[in-house]
Amino acid sequence: MANITVVGAGGVGAQTLLELSNASTRHTINVIDRDVVEESGLARQRLYTKSDVGKLKAHAAQERLGVHGIDAHLNEDNADELLKGADAVLDCTDNWQTRCAMNAWALKTKKPWVFTSAIRDESMATTLAPQTPCFVCWNPEPKTPRSCRIEGIREETTRIAAQTQVQELRQLLQKKPRLAGVLQYTNATTKTCATTRIKKNPNCPACVKKTFQTPKTNAALLCGDGEYLFETGVSFTKDALSSLNPKPFGDVMKIRFRKGELVVFSTGRILSRGLSQRQAEAAVEHIKQKQEN
Ligand SMILES: [Zn+2]
Repeated sequence: MANITVVGAGGVGAQTLLELSNASTRHTINVIDRDVVEESGLARQRLYTKSDVGKLKAHAAQERLGVHGIDAHLNEDNADELLKGADAVLDCTDNWQTRCAMNAWALKTKKPWVFTSAIRDESMATTLAPQTPCFVCWNPEPKTPRSCRIEGIREETTRIAAQTQVQELRQLLQKKPRLAGVLQYTNATTKTCATTRIKKNPNCPACVKKTFQTPKTNAALLCGDGEYLFETGVSFTKDALSSLNPKPFGDVMKIRFRKGELVVFSTGRILSRGLSQRQAEAAVEHIKQKQEN
């Protein structure tokens, strides 16, 4: 019996969790997610229903499937703690920094992880393991995440990405990974598949020089147009923020700011949507001051 951690319970992650539960494995499944269920995502995230809107995704997944849900944003500061004991990690995020955190954990512990990504009708998957090039060899610089909200994603694409990932996990647990160091592209429209070998960077800062970057900014840019995440370390309460007119939304609060919205978690996390980084930073500072005064 293996201990598997799924990182991200959005489009691909929700489908991967369903595939894992359909496979009726006896593995221990953990899921780490930083978001809440939104009504707008229900159509492409069939794990959740209308009654889950406003719930933390990690908790909604736990209720539905009996997996162990962890409400957190995985980063290089908490990865060692949150991924402790995992035999393999399934990446269902769309964030360079989070993937670097998984990559660093994998290099330090010599454990494998399965990368996957999906947008429009294209999905990609590869296994990153001690014997393969690492994620940073192939993605040395942060890329501005493409926005699933703007570019769209087909349900078939997430289904293919999830099935490929779960199939690869099965191979991996039998010590016969099919995609180790091999990036597989699948097109959901043309039903075609291509593979390419990932090359090792002989000067890779991560797997060769063993230097692991820590984010220099507290605002992490996420998938989605102008979506930033902040970890403030402050516990937020509705009463302290009452002058900002917070709207209760299930497990979180939402605050309107200019043309955007801030999703405030009691644990100190704030997600901003529809704001520039500078506007979001100012709004977060303002909310922190309200809470602390
Ligand atoms: Zn590397």
